Amino acid sequence: MAAPGENLRIDGDRLWDSLMEMAKIGPGIAGGNNRQTLTDEDGEGRRLFQEWCEAAGCTMGLDTMGNMFARREGADPDALPVYVGSHLDTQPTGGKYDGVLGVLGGLEVVRTMNDLGIKTKHPIVVTNWTNEEGTRFAPAMLASGVFAGVHEQDWAEAREDADGKRFGDELDRIGWRGEEPVGERKMHAFFELHIEQGPILEAEGKDIGVVTHGQGLWWLQVTLTGKDAHTGSTPMEMRVNAGLGMARITEAVHRIAMEHLPNAVGAVGQANVYPNSRNVIPGKAVFTIDFRSPDLEKLNSMRARLEKEAAEIAEDLGLGIEIEPVGHFDPVTFDPGCVSAVRDAAERLGYSHLDIVSGAGHDACWINQVAPTAMVMCPCVDGLSHNEAEEISKDWATAGADVLMHAVIETAEIVE
Ligand SMILES: [Zn+2]
Repeated sequence: MAAPGENLRIDGDRLWDSLMEMAKIGPGIAGGNNRQTLTDEDGEGRRLFQEWCEAAGCTMGLDTMGNMFARREGADPDALPVYVGSHLDTQPTGGKYDGVLGVLGGLEVVRTMNDLGIKTKHPIVVTNWTNEEGTRFAPAMLASGVFAGVHEQDWAEAREDADGKRFGDELDRIGWRGEEPVGERKMHAFFELHIEQGPILEAEGKDIGVVTHGQGLWWLQVTLTGKDAHTGSTPMEMRVNAGLGMARITEAVHRIAMEHLPNAVGAVGQANVYPNSRNVIPGKAVFTIDFRSPDLEKLNSMRARLEKEAAEIAEDLGLGIEIEPVGHFDPVTFDPGCVSAVRDAAERLGYSHLDIVSGAGHDACWINQVAPTAMVMCPCVDGLSHNEAEEISKDWATAGADVLMHAVIETAEIVE
């Protein structure tokens, strides 16, 4: 397989200018973006992306979930395409790079290949997946999930936003429903460039994260039932305090995650006590636990340990307890061949790199179920994301897109 030469680089200024141009659509209130899925702003962003893709000689495909596929022809039109991409939608108070870098990085790969007259055997397709963020229409990674067969399309289209508007209706309203059936495309490989959304690469001084795994997760909702009582007049030994049970279980979650290190995390993120009054002992507590690990055995072991210890704590305090799983993803192992292509590319280009695990969900995690997949990550300042202050440097973006291009070209096979 012909590998591209080490001097082959993308145009970092052009990529950066495109990022800044896209960020003008759906500006936030604090320097970031509010370009939520299936809003007018999303439609405008899609139009600009399509314009750019067509100017780069690509043909745009559009499926019935609004997923966009810009195709650069290959020398062998029957060869399965190499796909790249991510998402153009943002959080309501989102940054300029989360998702957008992966889409416009893919476009920059095509633009650079055009400039240099590089031909590949396999076609290259730059993708924009609809509704990755999942803020307006839960869950996240909705359309890539339908593509990969994880969700039924009817169910996805019936998702409603806070105003009761349906996904399917909003897709029609902004005019971005295509005719192509979802998930029929076959891929030779899929590569997603994304900002890390965590602090590791910057702290370690690395240019590139070679993503080997995606974390799996268990979300557990715990309901503890005790007895509301006066905080002043109820003797200590007569209390059935659901708040105290929640505190002990919260401590156990942290300790259990620590005991499963490395590659394990856990926290209580959402906590409610009832009646939530300063002079009432809580009679009820409802809270959620988030355990994550790239290792399925560890993930399940953390859950099992917690269920056992929480039951003991509840018994000790005389509380009723119910634990309900409310979310789960299996850990993701990305394709070793695609992961090597990313690592080799970073090596060839002279960028420092580190194997990392993705802590967040990405479209690539679903696409990995239907095609050989890998991710490239670049650092972001202070690991800050899903925040208007999200920031990366032009050098980081350039390095990420360089590595993406080399991995893509090597996989798509240069022809003379
Ligand atoms: Zn993202």
